[in-house]
Amino acid sequence: MRVGVPTEVKDNEFRVALTPDGAHALTEKGHTVYVQEGAGLGSGISDEEYVAAGAELKADPDELWAESDLILKVKEPIASEYHRLRPGLVLFTYLHLAADEPLTRQLIEKEVTSIAYETVQMPDGSLPLLAPMSEIAGRLAAQEGAHALLKFQGGDGTLLGGAAGVNRGEVIVLGGGVAGFAAAQVASGMGANVIVFDVNTARLRQIEELTGHRVRTQYSSPLAVSKACETADLVIGSVLVPGAKAPKLVTNEMVSKMKPGSVLVDIAIDQGGCFEDSHPTTHADPTFKVHNSTFYCVANMPGAVPFTSTYALTNATMRYCVLLADEGWGHACQLRPELSKGLTTHNGKLISAPVGQALGIES
Ligand code: NAD
Repeated sequence: MRVGVPTEVKDNEFRVALTPDGAHALTEKGHTVYVQEGAGLGSGISDEEYVAAGAELKADPDELWAESDLILKVKEPIASEYHRLRPGLVLFTYLHLAADEPLTRQLIEKEVTSIAYETVQMPDGSLPLLAPMSEIAGRLAAQEGAHALLKFQGGDGTLLGGAAGVNRGEVIVLGGGVAGFAAAQVASGMGANVIVFDVNTARLRQIEELTGHRVRTQYSSPLAVSKACETADLVIGSVLVPGAKAPKLVTNEMVSKMKPGSVLVDIAIDQGGCFEDSHPTTHADPTFKVHNSTFYCVANMPGAVPFTSTYALTNATMRYCVLLADEGWGHACQLRPELSKGLTTHNGKLISAPVGQALGIES
């Protein structure tokens, strides 16, 4: 099979979907791997390393897409890439379609077979291709939140760890899954008082045990979240209903009652965001104000740390990339049912029911 790896074009996105290890694994099995010139540079991988691993370089992305049967990407195609979509192409990448109607319609109209990393789901409900990026985004959320709290950044001037004889910062985390737990661990490690909200009580119990009760937990109800927001310095949103748009847990009215200079980081922005006022931002211009609070809503947070996230991502995706190339998408989905959960569009039809519900498109 001909496998193509284009350079990512989203704002400040430096990850790449395949490392030389992956290129080697594919070419060893007789597949042809095309890598766009410079695709790995943002992650510290040179063109020469890909060539040494058996890949062929392509300067022109149009040619690379046109000559590939399977395209491996990190982020969803953006408008400047839509003309490269075509019938029969297999696309394996993050898609987050519930928050992206134009791309959903493109994938349907152009009859692309798309498999979304974020909805590949194991029988126990875990999301093996989302988890590594959620872990990184969660850790970054605490870091970015602490930075936005600095006075000269427009923050309330609170140091999360406080000081001897002085109160610590108050952090609330909405959704205690992979991203939320990672955020809570880092914020707690910085010395903040952290409360995690979730609707899954078993998960809350687990978080208390795993953190030796350093991180407190609370059942997520609108009233409890509203009260906690009033005293919080930093609110981190990390809820997920797989495939669907994120529920809005923090309303505009709640933000109006928050402390001046407080910060809200919406990790769930790639699924539409879990705060009413959230809209996607970029690493180049990551924040905006709502009432007297700062919102940070970058949809590709791990793109800021590509030296970590390219390897964390490809460690998880590589086995599926090789399987798709070896077996073709249909047989690969039969062999690994978790992969079939990621199948989103095929042959001009939307397969994902949650995306259909979110966008009002028949699935
Ligand atoms: P996860 O499934 O591990 O965790 C989600 C948690 O949300 C679960 O524990 C679930 O019980 C909880 N939840 C669901 N509804 C809730 C509600 N009403 N109130 C409170 N909790 C609720 O998911 P994850 O892997 O941690 O991902 C979280 C989000 O982060 C996803 O939207 C994911 O796409 C996003 N993400 C964003 C970036 C980025 O760069 N912005 C990067 C990685 C992941």
